Amino acid sequence: MDRVRARKRTELLRNIIQIIFFFIFPSAFSSAFAAVKETAAALSQGAPLSLGPFARICLFLLAFTVIAGRFFCGYACAFGTLGDGVYMLSRSIQKKTGKKFPKIPVKAVKYLQLVKYVVLGGIFVLCFIGEQETVNRNSPWTLFSLLISLKAPSSDMIAAGILLLLTVVGMALQSRFFCQFLCPMGALFSLMPVLPSGQLVRDSENCIHGCSICERACPAALKLGDDDLREGECIRCNKCLHACPRGNIKLKLSAFSPDSPAWVVIQAAVLLLVLKFVI
Ligand code: SF4
Ligand code: SF4
Ligand code: SF4
Repeated sequence: MDRVRARKRTELLRNIIQIIFFFIFPSAFSSAFAAVKETAAALSQGAPLSLGPFARICLFLLAFTVIAGRFFCGYACAFGTLGDGVYMLSRSIQKKTGKKFPKIPVKAVKYLQLVKYVVLGGIFVLCFIGEQETVNRNSPWTLFSLLISLKAPSSDMIAAGILLLLTVVGMALQSRFFCQFLCPMGALFSLMPVLPSGQLVRDSENCIHGCSICERACPAALKLGDDDLREGECIRCNKCLHACPRGNIKLKLSAFSPDSPAWVVIQAAVLLLVLKFVI
């Protein structure tokens, strides 16, 4: 019972932090990604790389990921929060109606996760050849950032609107659909090395024989420790932690549990302060 109460408490804390970031930094992820587009454009023109606001946000978030894992994705990204909200709503509709929406099989999930690297590469190439405006005009996350910041999108963003709608449908079918399969910023985050202070590990010796509860609970279908190449996919949603009946999942090197309220609040406060005041 205590475990259930603790889980509910940590989930509530995560949701509160998500809502705060959703309203304070609705476009942090698209600002960070703007730096990637700017870099591609600058490289193609032979222009020097500048450390403007987008580049500073991007570099800070990448450095933060190295230290704390993808905490930004799990707790602070507005588009990730949108995905969580839509999926939560879809689950509640399925529960109430007794109808199950189709789910993407685990094997397909693992292959589809590679699509985001193609998206990242494709966007980089388009920006390199001077098509940055085309990318912005057709990008669902740019449109979302505009809408959430209460800015009017331009009339030529119809394709972006259709893509955003399709993305929302995907979000209703699969947990963190966009994050896992399509997000170019997520692709970049997943390639970052993560220090032991931000790495989740499983104490396999204490595992129940043949158990795969954590893998089934994980939106990225990760089995920590057996999936080294895909560990960058971990978006720090804590679903595995809460699902494990033995409390076997922890940070590789930390006095704190990954969802300890003190540790979560410290990380969120650092993110908030740096994004707000330093950058
Ligand atoms: S993967 Fe992309 S959209 Fe998802 S939470 Fe991370 S930055 Fe945001
Ligand atoms: S369930 Fe666990 S391993 Fe999977 S993404 Fe969430 S925190 Fe990472
Ligand atoms: S749910 Fe817990 S016991 Fe089961 S495999 Fe995962 S870490 Fe081990």
